[in-house]
Amino acid sequence: MMETNLKVMSQSQLAKAVLNESGQNVNLCYQCRKCAAGCPISYAMDYKPAQIIHAIRLGLDDLVYKSKTMWLCASCETCTTRCPQEVDIAKVMDAVKITAVKQGIKPTIPQVASFYRAALSNIKMFGRMYEMGMIVGLKMRTFELFKDVGLGMKLFTKGKLKVIPSFTGALRTWKIFNRVKSIENRESKI
Ligand code: SF4
Ligand code: SF4
Repeated sequence: MMETNLKVMSQSQLAKAVLNESGQNVNLCYQCRKCAAGCPISYAMDYKPAQIIHAIRLGLDDLVYKSKTMWLCASCETCTTRCPQEVDIAKVMDAVKITAVKQGIKPTIPQVASFYRAALSNIKMFGRMYEMGMIVGLKMRTFELFKDVGLGMKLFTKGKLKVIPSFTGALRTWKIFNRVKSIENRESKI
């Protein structure tokens, strides 16, 4: 019992938040860097996935929140499959983003956060991804109304962007959203 308490106490605030959010214990990491070696996006990251994991362990919350790494992460899970300690690094990246948003910390790449919000509210509304609606939602959030107009037109003329949304399976999706909402409400009362 005492040993368990010591383990919890030795965790940084962010490591605890990551554990609560994702069930992932970053203290299992022994810095082999296999995750960083396999990450297809690491070339663009300011800190490699292994460095982010280490920074979380060290309690360098500020460094982690100011990093672009988790916002660039494509959730491809290459790192997760390579980790010999079975740390799900992709889940850790998500947990850091969720924790940052919950704490009102501004995303280092706001366009990515806007994309997530636009995609989620689109699926919530139509029950599945309605690309045209998602693009309009994203443009309104980022104020980049005329960026990529040429590309949009190309997709439209090739029939890749539907004007009328489909509501097939929407009922099932709405039920999922309602269930998640009630679970969140229940947990917030505990
Ligand atoms: S692969 Fe796993 S153990 Fe190795 S550095 Fe990455 S998180 Fe740590
Ligand atoms: S899930 Fe993210 S951090 Fe992991 S390999 Fe893919 S892009 Fe890199």
